Amino acid sequence: MIVGVPKEIKNNESRVGMTPAGVLELTKRNHRVYVQTTAGVASGFSDEDYQHVGAQILPSIDAVYAESDMIVKVKEPIPEEYSLIKEDQVVFTYFHFAADQELTQAMLDSKSVCIAYETVQDANGRLPLLTPMSEVAGRMSIQQGAKYLEKPVKGKGLLLGGVPGVSPGKVLVLGAGVVGIQAAKMAAGLGAHVTILDINMDRLRYVNDIMPSHVVTEFSNEYNIRKHIKTHDLIIGGVLIPGAKAPKLITRDMLKDMDPGTVIVDVAVDQGGCIETTKATTHQDPVYIIDEVVHYCVANMPGAVPHTSTVALTNVTLPYVIQLAEKGWEKACQEDEALHKGLNLIHGKVVYQPIAEAFGWEE
Ligand code: NAD
Repeated sequence: MIVGVPKEIKNNESRVGMTPAGVLELTKRNHRVYVQTTAGVASGFSDEDYQHVGAQILPSIDAVYAESDMIVKVKEPIPEEYSLIKEDQVVFTYFHFAADQELTQAMLDSKSVCIAYETVQDANGRLPLLTPMSEVAGRMSIQQGAKYLEKPVKGKGLLLGGVPGVSPGKVLVLGAGVVGIQAAKMAAGLGAHVTILDINMDRLRYVNDIMPSHVVTEFSNEYNIRKHIKTHDLIIGGVLIPGAKAPKLITRDMLKDMDPGTVIVDVAVDQGGCIETTKATTHQDPVYIIDEVVHYCVANMPGAVPHTSTVALTNVTLPYVIQLAEKGWEKACQEDEALHKGLNLIHGKVVYQPIAEAFGWEE
């Protein structure tokens, strides 16, 4: 099969769909890989890195789309790319169709086969191609939160880990899922005192088993949240109710109970956020202040660390890319239930029910 890796052209997207390690796995199985020139540079991979493992570098995005049977990328195609996608071409990437009718219609019109990273789902209901980005965002939330606790950026003026003779900071983590556990682990590593809340007792039991004793679990309810926001310096929002907007666990009136300079990092911002005062920000302008509380609400946190994010993403996409290249999309999806759930559009037809429901297209 011929696999194409175009350069991402969506604003501020520095990741790339495949690393040289991934290319090697395909070329040694006798597949051809075309990579657009400079596609990997922002993630730390030069054209030469790709050439060394057998990729051919093509000069333009048009050439990559025109020459390839399957396109492997990161973000959904943007309007400039719509006309480049060919009938029967397999496109394997994040799509988030239900949120974008124009994109859905364009891909239906292209008669391509669209397999969406975000709907690939394993037998336990987990979404393996979303997990690494939650891991990145969870770890990064503490790095960013620690920085915004500094005085010059309007934080409390507190070093999260403390120093000998001075108490460390206190971190409140809402949600003990992927984001929450990674955040708790980083905060604990810095020596901070961590309280982590969830409504799922199994998650709390797991955290209690694996974390050091300065990570404390409590059930998530309004009483406990109101109690803890008064004493914690950094609050991480990591809750998710699948398929729904995040619940507002901290309301506007609760901000006045927090110390001035408290920092909130609402990672759940992409589902509307779990803080009433959350509004999405960008890496260029990541924070704003309401009632002297610093809010960091960047919707694509992994975009700031493209090297880590690219490698983490391609580690999990590659096994599927190999199956698709070796067997073709029909056989690969027949034989792998998780990959089958990734099939969203086939030759102009919606095959993933929630997309049809989102646009009222059900029969
Ligand atoms: P997850 O499903 O692994 O974990 C969510 C947890 O929230 C679950 O354990 C669930 O029991 C818990 N929860 C639900 N309701 C709760 C409540 N009322 N109180 C406390 N806990 C509650 O999800 P995840 O992978 O950790 O993702 C969390 C959020 O982060 C999602 O909205 C995801 O889209 C988002 N995210 C954002 C970025 C970003 O760049 N901003 C990156 C990755 C993920």
